[in-house]
Amino acid sequence: MSIIGIDLGTTNSLACVYREGRAELIPNELGEYKTSSAVSLLKDGSVLVGAAAKERLITHPESTAASFKVWMGTEKAFSLGGRTFKPEELSALVLRQLLEDARRYLGEPVEEAVISVPAYFNDDQRCATKLAAQLAGLTVKRLINEPSAAALCHRQGAQTGDCQLMIVDFGGGTLDVSVVDCFENIIEITAIAGNNRLGGDDIDRAIAAHFCRENGLSEHRLDPVALASLYRQAETAKIALSGAPAAAMALQLEDRQFSLVLTPPLLRQLCQPVFQQVRAVISRALKDRARTASIDDVILVGGSAQLPVFGDFLEELFGRRPKVAAKPDEIVALGVGLCAGIKARDEELQDLVMTDVCPFSLGVATCNSIYDKTPHMSFLISRSSMLPAVHRDNFYTLWDNQRALRFEIYQGEGYFASENLKLGELEVQVPPGPAGEQYATVTFTYDIDGILHVSAKSSGGDYRERLILNPHLHLTPEEQHRALERIGQIQLAAQGSQQEQFLLDKALSLYQQSLGPWRDAIGGLIYYLQSLGDYSSTARRRAWAAAQERLEQIEAQLQADPLSGDGFWGDFDPYEDTEDEED
Ligand code: ADP
Ligand code: MG
Repeated sequence: MSIIGIDLGTTNSLACVYREGRAELIPNELGEYKTSSAVSLLKDGSVLVGAAAKERLITHPESTAASFKVWMGTEKAFSLGGRTFKPEELSALVLRQLLEDARRYLGEPVEEAVISVPAYFNDDQRCATKLAAQLAGLTVKRLINEPSAAALCHRQGAQTGDCQLMIVDFGGGTLDVSVVDCFENIIEITAIAGNNRLGGDDIDRAIAAHFCRENGLSEHRLDPVALASLYRQAETAKIALSGAPAAAMALQLEDRQFSLVLTPPLLRQLCQPVFQQVRAVISRALKDRARTASIDDVILVGGSAQLPVFGDFLEELFGRRPKVAAKPDEIVALGVGLCAGIKARDEELQDLVMTDVCPFSLGVATCNSIYDKTPHMSFLISRSSMLPAVHRDNFYTLWDNQRALRFEIYQGEGYFASENLKLGELEVQVPPGPAGEQYATVTFTYDIDGILHVSAKSSGGDYRERLILNPHLHLTPEEQHRALERIGQIQLAAQGSQQEQFLLDKALSLYQQSLGPWRDAIGGLIYYLQSLGDYSSTARRRAWAAAQERLEQIEAQLQADPLSGDGFWGDFDPYEDTEDEED
């Protein structure tokens, strides 16, 4: 029985099998490798998946759904012909279709798969993906990050020596930027950054909005059929521009005809807000990476990487034009197929080792003293740590004769624990004693399959451990109600405190963006600002002013733009090696 690799994409999904020494894409019934990730419910209760469903986005928008991967791990419900579906249920239907095509092609049933997910997917989104597979009757052997898969495929094909690659995957609904270190037979992701709400769809929307503006139409007054057709036209025109100097769009509404001619300069202008966000993500990936050696090559993958204006934009950013992968929209699937081969212990692939990084930080909520009312994060595993990761730390009692230490476990980048996603909790008993004497050692182990193992051992010998299973996938109606109520209870800040609030917010946001010593320094400052509540007013004002100055210094150093040339890029030159060949 074969294990297959699946690229479960926002826009398109592909399946791949490793056999006879190579990764082989599996065609669907139409003979195509790409299956649109669209689902449509028919009158008789059956479901269409793929190109036909994508067509029905226009003709039957009320019973068709697409781009649901963007909502994986959330409570969003899709209504299809009066029935509601969760994103993981719709993904399960796409998976069932891919499995059916694979069974037909391979002549045997498939029950195991490796599935790729965006590197930036958090635990909720990964769990939702596993749940989707479960609903499709599939055992997931491993989830692999899409850029790891792309790097694996690139490495296999290019037969390059040791190198550091930047992979920019720009698809329909997600952007992933990763830095990958290829060293001997090891492929190691050393930094990742992404935005799972940014992709070609946003460009289509920008074109559609411009079409409406130019034609004096109001986008939100268009009926769903007209709107879907407008988006389709926007996408078609955008893709046509990859090979033609201009593309025309036309929309017939009742008896009137509306039109627009799309040209590269116009497209470039419309893409500007999207590209600015791309720039921010690239910058973050460069800041996070563990090693600052120069990037040898930038590889563009994903459907939107084929946009010439995207290449232009990156060329301006990097000073050289990045390479577009040979098959930008198939490379991830081919890599997942290779990974499936590794899982199936194919001999030729045995010595290829892949490591990943943790896409988010993990830690426990702590208080610095009994006066500290808002628990903040103590991170045990920070974002971009190499996996598998094991880290431990000691936590001490806060008051005399404290009998237990309770640890709330969170995932996320926020300074305050409450800003992050709570994953679970653990409590150990400690012997009585003066405050700060007794303690517990907490150990986090996060493995390559995304399972978090937490254990705590107290100075008295009490030991507890748990595997974190994501609790956020199955909220009951009461829980939902409670979550809503919690938001309703939050009060608006008083006017006078705005300046201070602004400073605090800025510190909190810088905290989220930074890592390591920077994060520690900003964390210390936040704690200090928080503790100022008790001072008299002049002392307090002086302290805030000093804190502001310090924060500005940190910000200036932290935001020394890694793309501006000094610092992070170093001697970055993506074409160092290929230059001679071109001449
Ligand atoms: P995902 O990984 O998100 O499923 P893909 O990598 O398949 O998506 O990319 C889909 C996106 O690529 C869509 O937004 C589509 O409009 C865009 N796209 C596909 N082909 C081209 C092309 N030749 N030029 C520009 N954009 C393209
Ligand atoms: Mg993709």
